[in-house]
Parts: sequence; C-alpha cells; structure tokens
Amino acid sequence: MATTKVLGIDVGGTGIKGGIVNLETGELISERFKLGTPEAAGPHEVLSVIQQIIEHFEWQGKPIGIGFPAVIKQGKSLTASNISKEWVDYPIKAFFEKNLECTLNVINDADAAGLAEMTYGKGKEVQGTVILLTLGTGIGSAIFKDGKLLANTELGHLKYEGQIAEKVVSNAAKKKNNLSWEEYGSQLHNFLSHVNRLFYPDLIILGGGISKKFEKYGGSFSKIGTITPASQFNNAGIIGAALASTK
Ligand code: BGC
Repeated sequence: MATTKVLGIDVGGTGIKGGIVNLETGELISERFKLGTPEAAGPHEVLSVIQQIIEHFEWQGKPIGIGFPAVIKQGKSLTASNISKEWVDYPIKAFFEKNLECTLNVINDADAAGLAEMTYGKGKEVQGTVILLTLGTGIGSAIFKDGKLLANTELGHLKYEGQIAEKVVSNAAKKKNNLSWEEYGSQLHNFLSHVNRLFYPDLIILGGGISKKFEKYGGSFSKIGTITPASQFNNAGIIGAALASTK
C-alpha cells in the first residue's frame, strides 16, 4: 500500500465530517472535524464545506476520499434522498476534482463504512453474508458476500409500514417522532427481522451516529441473529472513504 495517510470526508444529511486516516491501522490520526451540512446542500454549498475541512487540516496535494449519501456510479451521484435534489444524475467526482484541483474518489457513505468495518473492524475475516446498516439522517446499507462488496444497495428504501424504512427507523425518525429508546428498539427490531428474513445474513453491523448507544435499544436483537455495533461507531464512514480512495 503506497499511501498510508489519506484525508477521509463523510458527507451526511446533518453534518460533514473529516479526519486523517492511517490506512495501515484503520485509525483516525487526527481529531474528527465536523461542520454542519448547509440547508441548501447543493454542489457549491457542499464544496465550500469540504474546502473548509481541507483548510482546517492544511491538506495539500495528497489523496482524498469522500463518502456521499447517494448511489454513486461511474463518478456520478444518481439519487438524493437526504440531500439537495441537484445531486441527482450529477458528475460529482469531476466537479470536486476540478474545484479542489486534485484527484479523489467518491463512494456511497454506507459502502464506505462497510469497507472500514470489513477491513479493520467487526467484519474482518467474516465469511458469508455481512450487512452493515448506518442509522443516521437516513438508513444506508452495505452488503458483503465473503468479503466482497455488492455496491449501492439501498435497504433504507425498502418499503416498511407503508413508507420507506428510513422514514420510520433512522436516527432522524427517532427524533422526529419523539420515540423513547424502548419504542425505537422495537421499531428497529422489526425492521432488522425483515432484513434478516430477506437475506439471512451471518452478521449485521450497525453504524452511524446512534451505534454507540447500542445498549440502550439493542436488548432484544439477539433473537434475530448476530447483530453488533460498528467498532468505529460513527467514524467508519470517514475511515472507509479514505480506504476506498486507494482501491
Ligand atoms: C441514501 C443512501 C445513503 C443513506 C445514508 C439514504 O437516504 O439513499 O444512499 O447511504 O441515506 O446516508
């Protein structure tokens, strides 16, 4: 692995976070720097926040990896569920490269978190089917079969209780609907049972902002199968974005 230090950036619906990642250990070797996602989070607004993160770390000319909350194919963002609709069918990679004057990689944010967990965390050396779900502003998913990523899955968009699942069981939905931990745990339990019945995974890893509070809502999950919080909690997205930039 030629490059060992990469600036990872995780663009979310609520915050945009960056950190310098040591790819040999999979750890952040800087503080995690977070700025709020601008309300109108179109290309120029997100670019400006990323520029502030680059300036904060005085990062020059070295690789950058970006995780973004959309389906990303051939350098384009195709969807925009929790971010400005301007990103639909948008040449995201070329836009950032031109304006930041460097080469970089853009990957779906949940796929990034999944890669981090499979390389350094709870999914390391786990064979069979592993599903990582990020529970944040939306719900992201990454599915691995024997360590290989099936990119751009959108399990947060499964139909669930008449809506898409992320409107019912994301961290944002918990806040919006004022759910207690017990109520939230029960909703999430039902959704995870549904995912379990569709894929029969060998392991489910929960990431995103809420993963570090697993003990508050995960009490009954052992009945479903093996479910565990991500080892890097909410930093997996930054670490995986950095890692994906070298692949
Ligand atoms: C998006 C996904 C993303 C997830 C988590 C969803 O709304 O459709 O692409 O991974 O949010 O940010």
